[in-house]
Amino acid sequence: MSSTDPGAPKGMDDLRAGRDSCVLLVGHGSHLSPDSARPVHGLARRLHDAGAFREVRVAFWKEEPALHHAFHLVESSRVHVVPVFTSTGYFTERVVPRELGLDRTLVDRPGLRVHRCAALGTHPRMAEVVLERALEATPLSPEPLSEATLVVAGHGTRRHPDSGRTTERIANELSGQGRFRRVVPAFLDQDPRLTEVLEEEDAVDVVVVPFFIAEGWHAGTTIPDDLALRGGRSVRNGTSIWYAKPVGTHSAMVDVILDLVTGWETGEEAPFASTEPPPPAVAREAFLDWIGKGGSRGRRFLETWIHGAGEGRFEVRHHLDRSADPAGLRELETFWEGLEIAATTAQGKHRPLRTAPGLRRGWCFSGRSGREVWELFAHLYPPAPVHWHLERGGRLRPRTFRQVALRQSGIYAGLEETSDPNLIELAGVRCGPEGCLRHPTWAPASTDPGIGRSHGVPCPEPCSLFITGVRKQG
Ligand code: SF4
Repeated sequence: MSSTDPGAPKGMDDLRAGRDSCVLLVGHGSHLSPDSARPVHGLARRLHDAGAFREVRVAFWKEEPALHHAFHLVESSRVHVVPVFTSTGYFTERVVPRELGLDRTLVDRPGLRVHRCAALGTHPRMAEVVLERALEATPLSPEPLSEATLVVAGHGTRRHPDSGRTTERIANELSGQGRFRRVVPAFLDQDPRLTEVLEEEDAVDVVVVPFFIAEGWHAGTTIPDDLALRGGRSVRNGTSIWYAKPVGTHSAMVDVILDLVTGWETGEEAPFASTEPPPPAVAREAFLDWIGKGGSRGRRFLETWIHGAGEGRFEVRHHLDRSADPAGLRELETFWEGLEIAATTAQGKHRPLRTAPGLRRGWCFSGRSGREVWELFAHLYPPAPVHWHLERGGRLRPRTFRQVALRQSGIYAGLEETSDPNLIELAGVRCGPEGCLRHPTWAPASTDPGIGRSHGVPCPEPCSLFITGVRKQG
């Protein structure tokens, strides 16, 4: 596909031609629902299919792969970090830079140049996307629409002064276009509150566009519940409320991401050359070599079983399906299906911890190249194979609980005060064989020995689920 193709995303040719680039989409994620991460994964797949980047990776604050380990998945020498958030705020300005070690827009790390883009929702095209979402939500013709009110509903937060600004700017811009009688911003967590704005509204028609990335907790539950909405149109006190889809699932998002990246890729930049092979590439070679040496008996890695099928091809299954008749197993079409297998149970429930026991059975991935198998593992267990390889070479650098706790902020601040016996007790439950198949190589504090088993696949630092567990323990 080239940019002369009608379906080619804008700016794609600028990005190609020997560019050794990765786009890393970073999102919030959730321990409770797959809906938060789903649009980020969907965008990743669409960007991958567009072929504009050598690699497309994702990382999350509350799911795997964790933000702090995101670069363990990147083999390219340049990475563009795109915060998949609707506004600049607490996560884009504090959490993402801190977890990725990015104190500037452009950071050179060993073997890697990292470019931090603006948050997706701040792109100038987002006003157009809000308008398109509003127009899709209602069959009203321009005349009644000109008497309607458009509410741009953002999250906002009192924790960061910039959080509501993008929503306000977009409402202001659309207000100037005069297509609606009025356009107003409203928020869940700052003034003016969405419920109050709707209470005071006297228009016959009100269109509410959730300025959110996902059809997740807020756009899918909080807003409909707060406003007592039932489907796309609800009537309240004689007012029709038309509820639109969130902006982040709009098809224009791929173009917006390409636009965020293109300015830097095609502009003047200081020379940068990588001299070292990236650790994930070295880990990939070592992992495939280890599998190859397992011969026809194959190798077990966490709950999978992998064996060489000859001529550089491999097969992966659940280890309990090792002897199953292949005719009874579902053949995965692409490595992307590894995400569904690892992130949901057979009953469709969310699995925020990929290394929790209970990986789904009944599938196989056969006759695949080493690269495809590696990509499958990037979806099943990201980035456990890299940590496995680093530990084998004595190069895994675990961080203590207290180091990780000191990186926390907001409602998670202060956890470094948790006592060692409490941490060890919690790790015994959460990180034991019933809770997680990795073994912690981290310790409560720098002087303590590791608290985990000494074999298998290592965990170099407490994960977000463990941190949440500590907070709940109180
Ligand atoms: S902190 Fe514990 S539960 Fe979390 S990934 Fe590590 S070993 Fe598993």
